[in-house]
Amino acid sequence: MPRLDSVSISAEAVSNSKQLAKPTTIPLLLAENRQTLDSDTRNTIDRIETATTCLDYDLAIVGGGIIGNTLAVALQNSGLRVVSIESQAQSVSIVKNRAYVLSMLSGQIFEGMGIWNQILPLVTQFSQIQISDADYAGVVKMYPQDLGAETLGYAASHEVLLTALQSKLQTAANITTMCPAQVVGVDYTETGAEITIETPDTATPIKIRASLVIAADGAKSSLRERAGIETTGWNYWQSCITATIKPEKHHQNVAYERFWYAGPIGVLPLADGRCQVVWTVPHQQAEELQHLPTSEFLQELEHCTGGLLGKLELDSQRWLFPVKLMQSKQYTAPRLALIGDAAHCCHPVAGQGMNLGIRDAAALAEILVAAHHAGEDIGSDSVLQRYTNWRKPENWVILAFTDFLDRLFSNRIFPIVIVRRFGLLLLDRIPVFKYLALRLMTGLAGRIPQVAKSVSQ
Ligand SMILES: Cc1cc2nc3c(=O)[nH]c(=O)nc-3n(C[C@H](O)[C@H](O)[C@H](O)COP(=O)(O)OP(=O)(O)OC[C@H]3O[C@@H](n4cnc5c(N)ncnc54)[C@H](O)[C@@H]3O)c2cc1C
Repeated sequence: MPRLDSVSISAEAVSNSKQLAKPTTIPLLLAENRQTLDSDTRNTIDRIETATTCLDYDLAIVGGGIIGNTLAVALQNSGLRVVSIESQAQSVSIVKNRAYVLSMLSGQIFEGMGIWNQILPLVTQFSQIQISDADYAGVVKMYPQDLGAETLGYAASHEVLLTALQSKLQTAANITTMCPAQVVGVDYTETGAEITIETPDTATPIKIRASLVIAADGAKSSLRERAGIETTGWNYWQSCITATIKPEKHHQNVAYERFWYAGPIGVLPLADGRCQVVWTVPHQQAEELQHLPTSEFLQELEHCTGGLLGKLELDSQRWLFPVKLMQSKQYTAPRLALIGDAAHCCHPVAGQGMNLGIRDAAALAEILVAAHHAGEDIGSDSVLQRYTNWRKPENWVILAFTDFLDRLFSNRIFPIVIVRRFGLLLLDRIPVFKYLALRLMTGLAGRIPQVAKSVSQ
């Protein structure tokens, strides 16, 4: 049978592609299936494909990861016609075996967007954050009351966040999703861009037009490269191992960050009592750790976590990631804006990367909606410059902060060891230092997007 069941296109879309209405799925018809159709049906499908192969949108978001989808959901009911294009099928993109530190501000942004009720029951709220330096006995303990808040942040799985975002998108009347569909070309003009998209099921590439293109296509962003935007930064001498463990003792919702000379190790408490380990060490050591027999790996891990959680059991594969700091020299080009990892990447210490992207998305949505309501061209240089002005300096601060933390703690130079241990002592004893450090880590030190303000007041 031809896959006509997956063709879902509104009558309005066929008669007038400018008035696109829900539900809208780009026709999915395999070339070989086309031959099995009678000529009437084939003509009908051709008509639909012709009508949908050049559609107009205000905004095309390339990349339906957490950051691209956060922007799309933030633009629900905005009056802007948005298309979100993701190359991986939903069943694939949802599986990432990763949990993130979700900052308080990110939680408030999701609450303002109306998806927090779905997320909150499935995350862990940190009751405490413990920071320690190798085998030094002093431990800095941070509690929600140090910030005057109910929590210090959350641990959330990739699956929980992406599912909540994707289900919200299904009900947003102004947003079309194309998935799986890969952007293979973008031609920019003075007034917009023509985007070429390939899907596994359409015989010919689909063309769409948009006033503004958003690159949310990750650290290796092909849109950033095609636009000739250069980046600055470096690869660290370290790689990162992640794994899920079942500890003997319950984690009590405590998040641990322990700095070793080789690199930091973070332990995130998960909602089901397990923990996610994010362990940064020099490349060769990381490869060795990945391939060590399980019992030896767990022995090392128990040593490096100071036996805090008792005996450990490995509950996943060990994944290896390179670690880099990257900042795009420009966040925008004519008719293009970069968000999330397409714009910047940082060291995983303190779990900041995705949170920066969520703030990019909320800030950009706020700027675009205000511009649209004021009758401005959302893809104009002056509108895009507001986004750069807001986000680039704030992201620099966090990139520098994570780099500073990693360099300060990942070494044995005696005077530096003394200085940092004295610093930890001050952090532990002087409340205002704790407060300021927590403001920075929870995202509350920067400019707060309106969507979060509406719930935090
Ligand atoms: C080990 C590790 C631990 C981390 N822990 C944390 C943490 O605790 N807290 C935190 O805040 N951050 C953390 N991060 C960072 C975080 O993972 C990233 O910042 C975040 O996932 C970036 O999301 P994104 O949507 O920008 O990019 P991605 O997740 O890379 O999404 C990009 C999407 O674009 C799609 N795409 C790409 N090209 C195309 C195309 N041409 N057409 C259509 N679609 C396309 C891809 O399929 C993908 O779905 C961690 C990172 C690592 C490596």
